[in-house]
Amino acid sequence: MLVDNHTHNYLCKHADGMIENYIQHAISIGLDEIGISDHTPMPDNWDREFRMTEEQFWKEYSPTVFVLREKYKNKISVKFGLEGDFMPGTESWVKTFNAKSDFDYVIGSVHYIDDWGFDNPTFVAKYDVKDVNEIYEQYYDRINGSAQSGLFDIIGHCDLVKKFGHRPTKAMEEVLRETFALVKQSNMAVEINTSGLRKPVKEMYPSETVLKILSEYGIPLTLGSDAHTPMDVGRDFDLAKQLIERYGGGKISVFSKRQRSEIKI
Ligand SMILES: [Zn+2]
Ligand SMILES: [Zn+2]
Repeated sequence: MLVDNHTHNYLCKHADGMIENYIQHAISIGLDEIGISDHTPMPDNWDREFRMTEEQFWKEYSPTVFVLREKYKNKISVKFGLEGDFMPGTESWVKTFNAKSDFDYVIGSVHYIDDWGFDNPTFVAKYDVKDVNEIYEQYYDRINGSAQSGLFDIIGHCDLVKKFGHRPTKAMEEVLRETFALVKQSNMAVEINTSGLRKPVKEMYPSETVLKILSEYGIPLTLGSDAHTPMDVGRDFDLAKQLIERYGGGKISVFSKRQRSEIKI
């Protein structure tokens, strides 16, 4: 059984295609399940240039997923997900917002260090004026907060900070072990996200260094393409499957109404 738990659509304003186009592509490549997981709205519609507004969530995103789930139920299982953002200070807003919908799962992602969207190509120059080791430490500090928040089911692209190829100059082993010990305690899954292969770093999220730690700690894996265009649904899953065999015992987590279960790929 093969599942893509991480997909976007035009509502976030930096992806192409309707939700239905993503589902149709998933069917065409033989996936058994697709999760719709566009970027969450934020308090006061902050950062609305890169995400749907709250009004779009209620009027369009949520109802469309349920209509399409019904329409395609004989061809594919459609899950209602969301890619949440962990930002210190927004926790209670996120908790209230997430509780209002019947999500199958919510991905917890870190895309911001303070107000810097460090994975946004528009703001990449900031890597050159900051200490890269400090950036990594700040990033993993936010991941720790996300794991401890209890708000999310999946850690999204857990080493996203490498996206443009900036590498720390000091060993990160201790930082990584602290983070993934917290993730283990949280009972969350960590996604294998193939989109890194399509970014300047040209590497899966996470790296095999991180996957080794995950496997040592017995942290469950899940799988997503992070498609921002319908053709990218299921992209490079042949490579991801090899990693799931090697580091996850051939199993991934799937979600229904925020309950995790494991399937064999
Ligand atoms: Zn995006
Ligand atoms: Zn993301």
